[in-house]
Amino acid sequence: MTKSEKLKEIEEKMQKDNDLPLKRGATRLVFGVGNPESEIVLVGEGPGYWEDQKGEPFVGNAGKLLDQLLASINYDRTRVYITNVVHHRPPENRDPEPSEIEAYGKYLDEMLDTINPKVILTLGRFSMAKFLPEAKISAVHGRAFSVNWRSKSLVVVPMYHPAAALRSGEVMRSEKEDFLKLPEILKSFEEKSQKEKVREPDAQQMNLI
Ligand code: URA
Repeated sequence: MTKSEKLKEIEEKMQKDNDLPLKRGATRLVFGVGNPESEIVLVGEGPGYWEDQKGEPFVGNAGKLLDQLLASINYDRTRVYITNVVHHRPPENRDPEPSEIEAYGKYLDEMLDTINPKVILTLGRFSMAKFLPEAKISAVHGRAFSVNWRSKSLVVVPMYHPAAALRSGEVMRSEKEDFLKLPEILKSFEEKSQKEKVREPDAQQMNLI
């Protein structure tokens, strides 16, 4: 079974799951978009109004900014995979609650197991908390961490949420700088894994740069 086929299967399972806590208030499931063969997955927070209307992550204003940030490093959504920690729109765009993140988390884990990325960019504090529960975004944004997650070695780069960048000039400046640092991070990670064939990290989290 290809990764796309497996993802389709997970999506169908989610469509049928009436226990998903945000399902009733949402128009549709917003599963994920992009290239399932990519080594890079971006994980946001949850669908907003436009995502709920269109069924695709990051298609509103935050999404337009995300596209520009990706373009600034010669990437676009066909070179990465993009999803969220919750896949139905929370009412009034409120923050997702821990129990909701947990309910959708089992499907997100399945998606990540399927895609098997090497690098995860977390967008905002909710997805960061999944991989770096102790971290504070203002202290760690734009830095690469090696994380042993579900017995796999992953590089996690926590980024500010693009919506936060739209609200603050200072966050916008940091966000743009952090994206411009990504090619270097990806290159150093690739060189490192070539050299070491990915040595298992002994520390739980190891700052790579
Ligand atoms: N914000 C998110 O976190 N995800 C989306 O899909 C859209 C906006």
